Amino acid sequence: MDQKTLLRNLPSVNDLLNSKAAQTWEETVDVEVVKEMITTAIDEARKDILNSKISELTSDYFDSKIEKYLADRRVSQIQPVVNATGVILHTNLGRAKLATAAQDAISDVAGHATNLEYDITIGQRGDRYKAVGKLVAELTGAEDAIVVNNNAAAVMLVLSTLFNQKELITSRGQLVEIGGSFRIPDIITSTGGILKEVGTTNKTHIKDYEDAINEETGGVLIVHTSNYKLIGFAETPDSKDLADLCRKHHLPLVNDLGSGLMVDLSKYGLGNEPTIAQELKNCDLVMFSGDKLLGGPQAGIIAGKKKYIDQLKHNQLLRALRVDKITLASLMATLKLYRDPDNAVKQIPVLNELTMSPEDAFKRAETLQKLIEDETKFKATIEKGTTMVGGGSFPEVQLPTYLIDLQSSTSETKLNRDLEYAHYPIITRISHGKVFLDLRTIDESDYEKIIASLKEVAEKISK
Ligand SMILES: *Cc1c(COP(=O)(O)O)cnc(C)c1O
Repeated sequence: MDQKTLLRNLPSVNDLLNSKAAQTWEETVDVEVVKEMITTAIDEARKDILNSKISELTSDYFDSKIEKYLADRRVSQIQPVVNATGVILHTNLGRAKLATAAQDAISDVAGHATNLEYDITIGQRGDRYKAVGKLVAELTGAEDAIVVNNNAAAVMLVLSTLFNQKELITSRGQLVEIGGSFRIPDIITSTGGILKEVGTTNKTHIKDYEDAINEETGGVLIVHTSNYKLIGFAETPDSKDLADLCRKHHLPLVNDLGSGLMVDLSKYGLGNEPTIAQELKNCDLVMFSGDKLLGGPQAGIIAGKKKYIDQLKHNQLLRALRVDKITLASLMATLKLYRDPDNAVKQIPVLNELTMSPEDAFKRAETLQKLIEDETKFKATIEKGTTMVGGGSFPEVQLPTYLIDLQSSTSETKLNRDLEYAHYPIITRISHGKVFLDLRTIDESDYEKIIASLKEVAEKISK
């Protein structure tokens, strides 16, 4: 068909609004929204005709366009999804899933007034951070702690409070980028500090730090290179050596730990990550995320010497970075689980997934495979594989895992996208031309949702 005829044949907004399909669209969204979608669809069609992208208007052309808009709108809402990627701390998927105790704590406080800043013991205004400070102290050996919005905020608060207009010594091997626009050299500068870089990319010696100390020095910053590993001819002093140096010169030693591991996981073969308590033995302040290895809500925790925590509490910036009752309640509920470390490993999803044995992952794979084959039209086979921790933690660790290879008559990219568009979206892993579900990050409570979504997608494919 020629362009002119196509353009002449374009329906009007009212034509489409009065069509039968419009009735079903209006069941899910407001009529005004439908009108807007119809207008957009007609505009797009006109453009496509003028650019010769379409040469005929099929009868379902507008129906499928509007249905796509509706689906886009549905999947753009924030909602639960199944993380079948195997990446435990997936930043795009919201990092840590919370323990049941933390979820309960949220629903306990959400709809109620709370004693967030009211100290019932004295009947007066209280300190928002007092209870969490005590709890962190009990668990880590810190004197006190405060909590802010995330670890990036924690680092900024510490640097701007302690090192404004002062030289801050950092190893060249630790001038890292965490992701997005968070780069340590830029953060130091933007918080008013003067970066004094020492050593080289692969080697920094204690003497390099010592030589850099002068009257302008404000302190020493350690940045845990949590998202990459330098191997081979590489060395930096550990926090113990730096602590001795800083003590001698009366300088604070602060450590951006990032990952925030609370319990030693070496008995699970995960021994290369320093714990918070270990680092607090040497450092004056340690900063870490609430939603990485700690397995809690998004937060940044600063723990260490009371003298410095008090200074942070007096920084105006804290007001802009402070956390609400929801974060505090769920963080404290998560932290309390660490009073019994073995139980914490069972109750906190991040630790549970991290320490899951390959045998356990295999058993889960068998259960899910059977469910899929019994209840859906998909063929599912089990494969052995590896996965990563993610979230800039344990970068060198490849965790053994088991995967379900999902097979259907459609292409892997289409299947992957269809699963993401299901009413309960499944985010899969595509590799070697296959669509995989990794059992390490799939909870048993997800099975039912996976089956429902697979049924939905199978129906779509067979249409
Ligand atoms: C992840 C990380 C941060 C940023 O923490 P967020 O909680 O994501 O803000 C900062 N420093 C290090 C070393 C990290 O690993």
